Amino acid sequence: MNWRKPDGRQQPPAIGAVIFDMDGTLTRPYLDFDLIRAEIGLPNEPRTPVLEALTNMTAVQRARAENILDQYETEAALASELQDGACEVLSTLRRASIPLGLLTCNSRRCVEIVLDRHGLRFDCIYAREDGPIKPSPVPIQVICRQFGASPTASWMVGDYLFDVQAGRQAGATTVLMVGDAPMPAYADQAHHVVRRLHELLTLLAINSSGSS
Ligand SMILES: [Mg+2]
Repeated sequence: MNWRKPDGRQQPPAIGAVIFDMDGTLTRPYLDFDLIRAEIGLPNEPRTPVLEALTNMTAVQRARAENILDQYETEAALASELQDGACEVLSTLRRASIPLGLLTCNSRRCVEIVLDRHGLRFDCIYAREDGPIKPSPVPIQVICRQFGASPTASWMVGDYLFDVQAGRQAGATTVLMVGDAPMPAYADQAHHVVRRLHELLTLLAINSSGSS
């Protein structure tokens, strides 16, 4: 960051967009994937991600698996709780006029349940029905295009490897939020690692009034 204000203070570059993952990032982790895998009948070895495994099933198997996944997701969304600081961080970014994106592998219906439950609003939402899913960089490119923002000026905030990989491949700055969990082996792939959401404001050099 070399740009400096006329008074000599360092100024971070303009932020194109901030894109958040939902489950585990804005909300407390609410999906028990081991339980979902067991009920669908997916093996743990090799541990193919659930959504990827669905693409390799017959139509009948897939319909059954999607039904199971939908039930778990809906129950979880209805009972979802926000991470500490989620509302404050989002409202601060909004006051700073930063476009806010939501990028999730959850269904759009579950996204709407979670957003309604907590009174959250995003300028662009990309759910799993909308096209390629993380770790593809395509969703970030789609969201940024909608904002007229460059992915390289944008930030991707998530709690899992696929969030980091999607962000990296799109050229975005990546923030891995780990909460109180042990540091994962892939943490060094993220540009930044935080324990709490509010640390994001420091990284973005935005104070709680929304000014930088
Ligand atoms: Mg997540």
